Amino acid sequence: MRLLDLLFPPRCGGCGDYGAAWCLACAGTLQTPSASTLAGIPLVAAGRFVGPLQEAIHRYKYRPRPQLASVLAPPLGRAILTAGLSLSALTFVPLHPRRQHERGFNQAERLAAELSSALGIPLRRGLTRVRATPAQVGLSQAERRANLAGAFRWTASVPPGDRLGLVDDVCTTGATLTAAAAAVAEAGGSIGAFLVLAVAQTLPAVAVT
Ligand SMILES: [Zn+2]
Repeated sequence: MRLLDLLFPPRCGGCGDYGAAWCLACAGTLQTPSASTLAGIPLVAAGRFVGPLQEAIHRYKYRPRPQLASVLAPPLGRAILTAGLSLSALTFVPLHPRRQHERGFNQAERLAAELSSALGIPLRRGLTRVRATPAQVGLSQAERRANLAGAFRWTASVPPGDRLGLVDDVCTTGATLTAAAAAVAEAGGSIGAFLVLAVAQTLPAVAVT
């Protein structure tokens, strides 16, 4: 055991028990959803938005516990490797600056940074949320899409390039991911895959392949 583990024993991301980043019981509930696509782009997830994974994401975002990124990123990293994707770089869904100030960090950015160093894929920043959007909770899919139209823009001086992996925490209807992908396309780039920790159980926009 490393000295660091003795001083700061790892805690399970799902249930909080000491001993491992994911205890055996919680790790057993992490089931990679079958391969799917969103707007014709591969969608890779570490699991479904239920049980210990949902609990860990809630703790990560709302407690908030930014250090949980190091616990949440590995299952997604394994799903990315399993999917055998060829990605030129990773980027992430931005928060509106006001929201990020409130939370103190961007959960998608932290995940993207962890995945970047674990997988050896460069991190490229450039997506900006140019418009604050009302909370998505309770909106229909069409309402979410209208809510997010034009919400993102690629603002980096360097163009996004092709085959970017776009990282976010949860995919609920896919409206956020497709709006961010549209902003990348407008800047002349393309998304090679959507990479999320969890997908909501009912995902109407997703065609399972
Ligand atoms: Zn556990």
